[in-house]
Amino acid sequence: MTGFTEDELIETIGKILSGEAPGVRLGAGRDDAALVEPGRHLVILTADMLVEGVHFELTTMSARDLGYRAVTVNVSDVAAMGGSPRFGLVTLGLPKDTEASWVVELFGGLREGGDEYAVALVGGDLSRADRVVISVTVTGEVPDGGAVTRSGARPGDRIVVTGALGAAAGGLRLSRADPHLAGSAVASEWGRSLLAALFRPLARVGEGQSLAQAGATAMMDVSDGLSLDLSRLCKASGVGAAVALDRVPVAEGVRELCRELGEGDPLIMALEGGEDFELLATLPAGAVQPAAASLRERFATPLTDIGEVRTQVGVVALDPEGRERPLEPRGWDHFAG
Ligand SMILES: [Mg+2]
Repeated sequence: MTGFTEDELIETIGKILSGEAPGVRLGAGRDDAALVEPGRHLVILTADMLVEGVHFELTTMSARDLGYRAVTVNVSDVAAMGGSPRFGLVTLGLPKDTEASWVVELFGGLREGGDEYAVALVGGDLSRADRVVISVTVTGEVPDGGAVTRSGARPGDRIVVTGALGAAAGGLRLSRADPHLAGSAVASEWGRSLLAALFRPLARVGEGQSLAQAGATAMMDVSDGLSLDLSRLCKASGVGAAVALDRVPVAEGVRELCRELGEGDPLIMALEGGEDFELLATLPAGAVQPAAASLRERFATPLTDIGEVRTQVGVVALDPEGRERPLEPRGWDHFAG
Protein backbone atom coordinates (compact mmCIF):
# COMPACT_ATOMS: atom_id res chain seq x y z
CA MET A 1 0.00 0.00 0.00
CA THR A 2 1.37 3.43 -0.78
CA GLY A 3 0.56 6.38 1.45
CA PHE A 4 -0.71 4.54 4.54
CA THR A 5 0.37 1.79 6.89
CA GLU A 6 -2.12 -1.05 7.21
CA ASP A 7 -3.17 0.10 10.70
CA GLU A 8 -3.72 3.64 9.46
CA LEU A 9 -5.75 2.33 6.57
CA ILE A 10 -7.91 0.19 8.85
CA GLU A 11 -8.49 3.18 11.12
CA THR A 12 -9.47 5.31 8.11
CA ILE A 13 -11.82 2.62 6.82
CA GLY A 14 -13.33 2.30 10.31
CA LYS A 15 -14.11 6.04 10.21
CA ILE A 16 -15.69 5.80 6.76
CA LEU A 17 -17.85 2.86 7.81
CA SER A 18 -18.64 4.06 11.30
CA GLY A 19 -21.98 5.42 12.32
CA GLU A 20 -24.95 4.28 14.27
CA ALA A 21 -27.03 1.69 12.50
CA PRO A 22 -30.08 -0.17 13.74
CA GLY A 23 -29.19 -3.54 15.18
CA VAL A 24 -25.43 -2.99 15.30
CA ARG A 25 -24.03 -3.45 18.82
CA LEU A 26 -20.36 -3.47 17.80
CA GLY A 27 -19.43 -2.32 14.30
CA ALA A 28 -16.47 -2.29 11.91
CA GLY A 29 -12.94 -2.36 13.27
CA ARG A 30 -13.87 -2.20 16.96
CA ASP A 31 -13.06 -5.74 18.05
CA ASP A 32 -12.31 -9.25 16.82
CA ALA A 33 -15.74 -9.48 15.24
CA ALA A 34 -18.93 -7.47 14.89
CA LEU A 35 -21.99 -7.98 17.08
CA VAL A 36 -25.45 -7.51 15.64
CA GLU A 37 -28.97 -8.20 16.83
CA PRO A 38 -30.83 -11.02 15.10
CA GLY A 39 -34.04 -9.98 13.40
CA ARG A 40 -37.42 -11.62 13.89
CA HIS A 41 -37.32 -13.44 10.59
CA LEU A 42 -35.32 -15.96 8.58
CA VAL A 43 -31.79 -14.90 7.71
CA ILE A 44 -30.72 -14.57 4.06
CA LEU A 45 -26.98 -14.91 3.37
CA THR A 46 -25.32 -14.07 0.08
CA ALA A 47 -21.82 -13.27 -1.19
CA ASP A 48 -20.44 -11.97 -4.44
CA MET A 49 -16.86 -11.58 -5.58
CA LEU A 50 -15.61 -9.06 -8.13
CA VAL A 51 -12.20 -9.79 -9.64
CA GLU A 52 -10.11 -7.29 -11.60
CA GLY A 53 -9.75 -8.46 -15.18
CA VAL A 54 -12.77 -10.79 -14.88
CA HIS A 55 -15.60 -8.55 -13.67
CA PHE A 56 -14.13 -5.06 -14.04
CA GLU A 57 -11.13 -3.13 -15.29
CA LEU A 58 -9.47 -0.45 -13.21
CA THR A 59 -9.08 1.68 -16.34
CA THR A 60 -12.82 1.92 -16.96
CA MET A 61 -14.41 1.73 -13.51
CA SER A 62 -13.78 4.25 -10.75
CA ALA A 63 -13.07 3.06 -7.21
CA ARG A 64 -16.25 4.73 -5.99
CA ASP A 65 -18.46 3.05 -8.61
CA LEU A 66 -16.80 -0.29 -7.92
CA GLY A 67 -17.57 -0.02 -4.20
CA TYR A 68 -21.16 0.99 -4.85
CA ARG A 69 -21.60 -1.84 -7.32
CA ALA A 70 -20.12 -4.46 -4.97
CA VAL A 71 -22.87 -3.67 -2.44
CA THR A 72 -25.64 -3.44 -5.06
CA VAL A 73 -25.02 -6.85 -6.64
CA ASN A 74 -25.42 -8.53 -3.24
CA VAL A 75 -28.47 -6.48 -2.31
CA SER A 76 -30.01 -7.54 -5.62
CA ASP A 77 -29.73 -11.20 -4.59
CA VAL A 78 -31.49 -10.43 -1.30
CA ALA A 79 -34.17 -8.54 -3.26
CA ALA A 80 -34.59 -11.55 -5.55
CA MET A 81 -35.64 -13.65 -2.53
CA GLY A 82 -38.22 -11.04 -1.53
CA GLY A 83 -36.13 -9.99 1.48
CA SER A 84 -34.66 -6.84 3.06
CA PRO A 85 -30.90 -6.39 3.34
CA ARG A 86 -29.38 -5.72 6.78
CA PHE A 87 -25.64 -6.16 7.32
CA GLY A 88 -22.54 -6.44 5.15
CA LEU A 89 -18.93 -7.62 5.36
CA VAL A 90 -16.25 -6.48 2.92
CA THR A 91 -13.12 -8.48 2.09
CA LEU A 92 -10.47 -6.97 -0.13
CA GLY A 93 -7.39 -8.25 -1.90
CA LEU A 94 -5.13 -5.38 -2.97
CA PRO A 95 -1.88 -5.31 -4.96
CA LYS A 96 0.97 -3.78 -3.03
CA ASP A 97 1.21 -0.65 -5.19
CA THR A 98 -2.46 0.30 -4.64
CA GLU A 99 -2.82 3.98 -3.75
CA ALA A 100 -4.38 4.54 -0.33
CA SER A 101 -6.51 7.29 -1.88
CA TRP A 102 -8.01 4.69 -4.26
CA VAL A 103 -8.92 2.47 -1.30
CA VAL A 104 -10.51 5.40 0.53
CA GLU A 105 -12.61 6.14 -2.59
CA LEU A 106 -13.60 2.47 -2.80
CA PHE A 107 -14.85 2.56 0.78
CA GLY A 108 -16.65 5.81 0.02
CA GLY A 109 -18.56 3.90 -2.69
CA LEU A 110 -19.21 0.96 -0.38
CA ARG A 111 -20.59 3.33 2.25
CA GLU A 112 -22.73 5.07 -0.36
CA GLY A 113 -24.17 1.71 -1.50
CA GLY A 114 -24.72 0.70 2.12
CA ASP A 115 -26.56 3.96 2.84
CA GLU A 116 -28.70 3.61 -0.30
CA TYR A 117 -29.99 0.18 0.74
CA ALA A 118 -29.76 0.51 4.53
CA VAL A 119 -27.00 -2.10 4.75
CA ALA A 120 -24.74 -1.55 7.78
CA LEU A 121 -21.18 -2.55 6.83
CA VAL A 122 -19.94 -4.10 10.04
CA GLY A 123 -16.52 -5.52 9.19
CA GLY A 124 -14.30 -7.43 6.84
CA ASP A 125 -10.70 -8.13 6.00
CA LEU A 126 -7.79 -6.85 3.93
CA SER A 127 -5.02 -8.82 2.29
CA ARG A 128 -2.30 -8.32 -0.25
CA ALA A 129 -3.12 -9.94 -3.60
CA ASP A 130 -1.76 -9.80 -7.14
CA ARG A 131 -4.85 -8.03 -8.44
CA VAL A 132 -7.84 -6.23 -6.94
CA VAL A 133 -10.42 -8.62 -5.53
CA ILE A 134 -13.47 -7.39 -3.67
CA SER A 135 -15.81 -9.80 -1.96
CA VAL A 136 -18.90 -8.55 -0.19
CA THR A 137 -21.18 -10.66 1.97
CA VAL A 138 -24.65 -9.33 2.77
CA THR A 139 -27.23 -10.64 5.19
CA GLY A 140 -30.91 -9.97 4.86
CA GLU A 141 -34.16 -11.12 6.34
CA VAL A 142 -37.45 -12.42 5.11
CA PRO A 143 -40.53 -13.64 7.00
CA ASP A 144 -40.64 -17.41 7.42
CA GLY A 145 -42.62 -18.71 4.44
CA GLY A 146 -42.26 -15.38 2.62
CA ALA A 147 -39.12 -16.06 0.58
CA VAL A 148 -39.55 -16.55 -3.16
CA THR A 149 -37.19 -19.14 -4.64
CA ARG A 150 -36.50 -20.09 -8.24
CA SER A 151 -38.30 -23.39 -8.01
CA GLY A 152 -41.99 -22.53 -7.66
CA ALA A 153 -43.02 -21.63 -11.22
CA ARG A 154 -46.11 -23.53 -12.38
CA PRO A 155 -47.45 -24.13 -15.88
CA GLY A 156 -49.88 -21.35 -16.75
CA ASP A 157 -48.07 -18.70 -14.68
CA ARG A 158 -47.13 -15.49 -16.47
CA ILE A 159 -43.48 -14.47 -16.73
CA VAL A 160 -42.78 -10.86 -15.77
CA VAL A 161 -39.72 -8.63 -15.65
CA THR A 162 -39.18 -5.29 -13.89
CA GLY A 163 -37.77 -2.24 -15.68
CA ALA A 164 -36.00 -2.78 -18.98
CA LEU A 165 -33.10 -4.90 -20.18
CA GLY A 166 -29.85 -4.44 -22.06
CA ALA A 167 -28.77 -1.10 -20.59
CA ALA A 168 -25.76 -2.42 -18.67
CA ALA A 169 -24.58 -4.41 -21.69
CA GLY A 170 -25.02 -1.24 -23.74
CA GLY A 171 -23.02 0.73 -21.18
CA LEU A 172 -20.24 -1.85 -21.29
CA ARG A 173 -20.18 -1.73 -25.10
CA LEU A 174 -20.11 2.06 -24.96
CA SER A 175 -17.31 2.17 -22.38
CA ARG A 176 -15.23 0.11 -24.82
CA ALA A 177 -16.25 2.03 -27.96
CA ASP A 178 -13.80 4.27 -29.77
CA PRO A 179 -13.24 7.49 -27.83
CA HIS A 180 -14.87 9.68 -30.49
CA LEU A 181 -18.21 7.82 -30.32
CA ALA A 182 -17.99 7.40 -26.55
CA GLY A 183 -17.29 11.13 -26.16
CA SER A 184 -20.33 12.21 -28.15
CA ALA A 185 -22.52 9.54 -26.50
CA VAL A 186 -21.65 10.79 -23.02
CA ALA A 187 -23.01 14.19 -24.03
CA SER A 188 -26.38 12.58 -24.89
CA GLU A 189 -29.18 11.51 -22.60
CA TRP A 190 -29.18 7.95 -23.98
CA GLY A 191 -25.41 7.57 -23.56
CA ARG A 192 -25.53 8.73 -19.96
CA SER A 193 -28.40 6.39 -19.15
CA LEU A 194 -26.46 3.38 -20.48
CA LEU A 195 -23.32 4.27 -18.53
CA ALA A 196 -25.38 4.89 -15.39
CA ALA A 197 -26.87 1.39 -15.73
CA LEU A 198 -23.36 -0.04 -15.92
CA PHE A 199 -21.71 1.99 -13.18
CA ARG A 200 -24.63 2.61 -10.82
CA PRO A 201 -26.96 -0.38 -11.12
CA LEU A 202 -30.14 -0.41 -9.04
CA ALA A 203 -31.22 -3.28 -6.82
CA ARG A 204 -35.00 -3.74 -6.85
CA VAL A 205 -35.55 -4.27 -3.13
CA GLY A 206 -39.03 -2.77 -2.73
CA GLU A 207 -40.13 -4.29 -6.01
CA GLY A 208 -38.99 -7.76 -4.87
CA GLN A 209 -41.02 -7.49 -1.69
CA SER A 210 -44.05 -6.26 -3.62
CA LEU A 211 -43.80 -9.15 -6.08
CA ALA A 212 -43.51 -11.60 -3.18
CA GLN A 213 -46.63 -10.08 -1.60
CA ALA A 214 -48.42 -10.16 -4.95
CA GLY A 215 -47.99 -13.94 -5.03
CA ALA A 216 -44.83 -14.47 -7.11
CA THR A 217 -44.32 -18.23 -7.46
CA ALA A 218 -40.64 -17.96 -8.48
CA MET A 219 -38.17 -15.09 -8.68
CA MET A 220 -34.53 -14.30 -9.42
CA ASP A 221 -32.48 -11.30 -10.46
CA VAL A 222 -31.28 -10.98 -14.04
CA SER A 223 -27.54 -10.92 -13.54
CA ASP A 224 -26.35 -13.05 -16.44
CA GLY A 225 -28.90 -12.20 -19.14
CA LEU A 226 -32.62 -12.93 -19.51
CA SER A 227 -32.33 -16.00 -21.75
CA LEU A 228 -29.76 -17.71 -19.50
CA ASP A 229 -31.40 -16.73 -16.21
CA LEU A 230 -34.89 -17.73 -17.41
CA SER A 231 -33.53 -21.13 -18.44
CA ARG A 232 -32.12 -21.50 -14.90
CA LEU A 233 -35.43 -20.56 -13.30
CA CYS A 234 -37.28 -23.03 -15.54
CA LYS A 235 -34.81 -25.79 -14.76
CA ALA A 236 -35.15 -25.18 -11.01
CA SER A 237 -38.95 -25.30 -11.35
CA GLY A 238 -39.03 -28.28 -13.71
CA VAL A 239 -41.02 -26.34 -16.33
CA GLY A 240 -40.55 -24.66 -19.69
CA ALA A 241 -41.40 -21.19 -20.97
CA ALA A 242 -42.46 -19.24 -24.03
CA VAL A 243 -41.25 -15.64 -24.36
CA ALA A 244 -42.95 -13.21 -26.75
CA LEU A 245 -39.99 -11.41 -28.32
CA ASP A 246 -41.94 -8.26 -29.13
CA ARG A 247 -42.82 -7.84 -25.44
CA VAL A 248 -39.28 -7.97 -24.09
CA PRO A 249 -38.62 -4.46 -22.71
CA VAL A 250 -35.49 -3.12 -24.40
CA ALA A 251 -33.83 -0.37 -22.32
CA GLU A 252 -33.84 3.15 -23.62
CA GLY A 253 -30.61 4.03 -25.35
CA VAL A 254 -29.84 0.52 -26.60
CA ARG A 255 -31.39 1.20 -30.01
CA GLU A 256 -29.52 4.52 -30.33
CA LEU A 257 -26.28 2.77 -29.40
CA CYS A 258 -26.71 0.07 -32.04
CA ARG A 259 -27.57 2.72 -34.62
CA GLU A 260 -24.48 4.79 -33.74
CA LEU A 261 -22.21 1.75 -33.73
CA GLY A 262 -23.71 0.45 -36.98
CA GLU A 263 -23.82 -3.00 -35.41
CA GLY A 264 -25.52 -5.03 -32.72
CA ASP A 265 -29.15 -6.06 -32.25
CA PRO A 266 -31.04 -4.26 -29.46
CA LEU A 267 -33.22 -7.32 -28.81
CA ILE A 268 -30.19 -9.60 -28.50
CA MET A 269 -28.63 -7.15 -26.04
CA ALA A 270 -31.85 -7.22 -23.99
CA LEU A 271 -32.04 -11.04 -24.10
CA GLU A 272 -28.40 -11.82 -23.51
CA GLY A 273 -26.83 -8.77 -21.87
CA GLY A 274 -26.18 -9.35 -18.18
CA GLU A 275 -25.88 -7.22 -15.07
CA ASP A 276 -29.13 -5.30 -15.37
CA PHE A 277 -30.25 -6.58 -11.94
CA GLU A 278 -33.89 -6.40 -12.91
CA LEU A 279 -36.17 -9.00 -11.33
CA LEU A 280 -37.55 -11.91 -13.31
CA ALA A 281 -40.60 -13.51 -11.69
CA THR A 282 -43.52 -15.78 -12.38
CA LEU A 283 -47.02 -14.90 -11.20
CA PRO A 284 -50.47 -16.49 -11.50
CA ALA A 285 -52.18 -14.77 -14.45
CA GLY A 286 -54.66 -12.92 -12.25
CA ALA A 287 -51.90 -11.41 -10.10
CA VAL A 288 -50.05 -9.64 -12.92
CA GLN A 289 -52.22 -6.53 -13.20
CA PRO A 290 -52.36 -5.82 -9.44
CA ALA A 291 -48.59 -6.40 -9.16
CA ALA A 292 -47.89 -4.06 -12.08
CA ALA A 293 -50.15 -1.38 -10.55
CA SER A 294 -48.41 -1.70 -7.19
CA LEU A 295 -44.90 -1.39 -8.70
CA ARG A 296 -45.97 1.59 -10.78
CA GLU A 297 -47.58 3.42 -7.87
CA ARG A 298 -44.99 2.65 -5.21
CA PHE A 299 -41.75 2.76 -7.21
CA ALA A 300 -42.61 4.10 -10.69
CA THR A 301 -41.11 0.83 -11.96
CA PRO A 302 -42.68 -0.83 -15.00
CA LEU A 303 -43.55 -4.53 -14.84
CA THR A 304 -43.86 -6.26 -18.20
CA ASP A 305 -45.57 -9.57 -18.96
CA ILE A 306 -43.23 -11.27 -21.45
CA GLY A 307 -44.66 -14.74 -21.73
CA GLU A 308 -45.92 -17.87 -20.04
CA VAL A 309 -44.71 -20.88 -18.12
CA ARG A 310 -45.36 -24.17 -19.89
CA THR A 311 -45.34 -27.81 -18.88
CA GLN A 312 -43.01 -28.83 -21.68
CA VAL A 313 -39.40 -28.21 -20.70
CA GLY A 314 -37.23 -25.85 -22.73
CA VAL A 315 -37.51 -22.14 -23.38
CA VAL A 316 -38.92 -20.98 -26.71
CA ALA A 317 -39.15 -17.56 -28.32
CA LEU A 318 -42.37 -16.51 -30.05
CA ASP A 319 -41.97 -14.05 -32.91
CA PRO A 320 -44.74 -11.51 -33.67
CA GLU A 321 -46.27 -13.93 -36.20
CA GLY A 322 -46.57 -16.57 -33.49
CA ARG A 323 -43.78 -18.80 -34.80
CA GLU A 324 -41.73 -20.65 -32.20
CA ARG A 325 -38.03 -21.32 -32.05
CA PRO A 326 -35.79 -22.42 -29.20
CA LEU A 327 -34.40 -19.49 -27.20
CA GLU A 328 -30.75 -20.32 -26.71
CA PRO A 329 -29.68 -19.75 -23.11
CA ARG A 330 -26.83 -17.42 -24.00
CA GLY A 331 -25.45 -14.84 -21.65
CA TRP A 332 -22.72 -14.13 -19.23
CA ASP A 333 -21.23 -17.38 -17.96
CA HIS A 334 -18.20 -16.75 -15.76
CA PHE A 335 -16.66 -20.11 -16.47
CA ALA A 336 -17.41 -20.37 -20.19
CA GLY A 337 -14.95 -17.75 -21.48
MG1 LIG B 1 -29.07 -13.73 -8.37
